[in-house]
Amino acid sequence: MKHETNIPYKIYLSENEMPRNWYNVRADMKEKPAPLLHPATGVPMGYDDLRNVFCDELVRQELDDDTREIPIPQAVLDFYKMYRPSPLVRAYCLEETLQTPAKIYYKFEGNNTSGSHKLNSAIAQAYYAKQQGLTGVTTETGAGQWGTALSMACAYLGLDCKVYMVKCSYEQKPFRREVMRTYGASVTPSPSMDTAVGRKILSEHPGTTGSLGCAISEAVEAAASAPGYRYVLGSVLNQVLLHQSIIGLEAKAALDKYGIIPDIIIGCAGGGSNLGGLIAPFMGEKLRGLRDYRIIAVEPASCPSLTRGRFAYDFCDTGKVCPLAKMYTLGSGFIPSSSHSGGLRYHGMNSVLSQLYHDGYMEAISVEQTKVFEAAEYFARTEGILPAPESSHAIRAAIDEALHCKETGEDKTIVFGLTGTGYFDMAAYEKFHNGEMRDSIPTDEELERSFALLPSLQ
Ligand SMILES: *Cc1c(COP(=O)(O)O)cnc(C)c1O
Repeated sequence: MKHETNIPYKIYLSENEMPRNWYNVRADMKEKPAPLLHPATGVPMGYDDLRNVFCDELVRQELDDDTREIPIPQAVLDFYKMYRPSPLVRAYCLEETLQTPAKIYYKFEGNNTSGSHKLNSAIAQAYYAKQQGLTGVTTETGAGQWGTALSMACAYLGLDCKVYMVKCSYEQKPFRREVMRTYGASVTPSPSMDTAVGRKILSEHPGTTGSLGCAISEAVEAAASAPGYRYVLGSVLNQVLLHQSIIGLEAKAALDKYGIIPDIIIGCAGGGSNLGGLIAPFMGEKLRGLRDYRIIAVEPASCPSLTRGRFAYDFCDTGKVCPLAKMYTLGSGFIPSSSHSGGLRYHGMNSVLSQLYHDGYMEAISVEQTKVFEAAEYFARTEGILPAPESSHAIRAAIDEALHCKETGEDKTIVFGLTGTGYFDMAAYEKFHNGEMRDSIPTDEELERSFALLPSLQ
């Protein structure tokens, strides 16, 4: 193996090398992301409009386009110390089996019980809720990683946690549900009869197995109608990208320690939080004209918001109760095919990433899920870690870039985000192993039908 003795296999930071501030990339953007608009009036929403739904400090962070560094509260730093820094791993074995001259690193966020990067924002959001003296928080979860992360954070801080879980996941992933209940959360399958929006969706679509957009509407309503509760969200929002900047700040500090400069940075993209977090400090350098990097977002071919979506104002949820965001979107009514197993199912993309993509600061590609699971299996067999299907989108792209380097003989340095582990996704792996996995790609006609329903205030 070509192990370079001057660079450790895994680069860790010591406790005093860990970042103490989150980095807000919006401060360095010339074209700021467009403001959130009120879903009924179309008027930009300010602090007072958003406070009923979100915690006060999180509203401030959501709206703050100017403060570059935001201090991480001591209690959050202390919690981070339980599972951070996360390792930056040199994928020597993967490089060797691919026979590539490329150098591949991955930032591994799966080393905590929730199994993904989502805990980085869950603890921050729960902390601000607690600070404000709230009783609890409500949220939605799809596959269950966010709900798990949030229930861990709430258990730690003594907050009540109410999770609306997309019904098909609730039924297909009973283990995730039980992990959340172990941490004291209450878990309701969505759509439910608990909320007006849930009852409406059930009467219009009896037998529906739910969607993320629908669970969001229910969680927002539940927060608004219970005193002392606020709604929290695990992706898509700017505040979540801010908290996730810890991933990129640690990765950059680890690389800087050994003088390593990446050429290509790759992340999977659902709502955009891990990608936005990983790339944040690198994008900052790019925006300030200090250095150039190739930055690649990888999304599923079955839910291709950046590569095939429209850059437009759209609803963030199916029930149209959330603010409108300007983003790359497939339309708030878009629901990816039920044969899609790889996560990353959200119809839109965070508005900061959407703006950066629109302005040409990053690239996006989409990959089919059979190719994603091929990469997942290859990675598990070479590097040992069983990756989450979501993370495996980034693995696929990293492998393809490394294979390209093999053709051209370039020894590029590739960094990708390995967002989590896949132990709860074995039903999808089973489908893949049995040769039963199909690629489902929406047709142009299907997308056009969905775009036709975009709100007409552009
Ligand atoms: C939620 C999740 C993602 C996608 O969410 P983003 O907000 O786009 O980062 C990716 N990987 C894992 C393991 C996840 O749990």
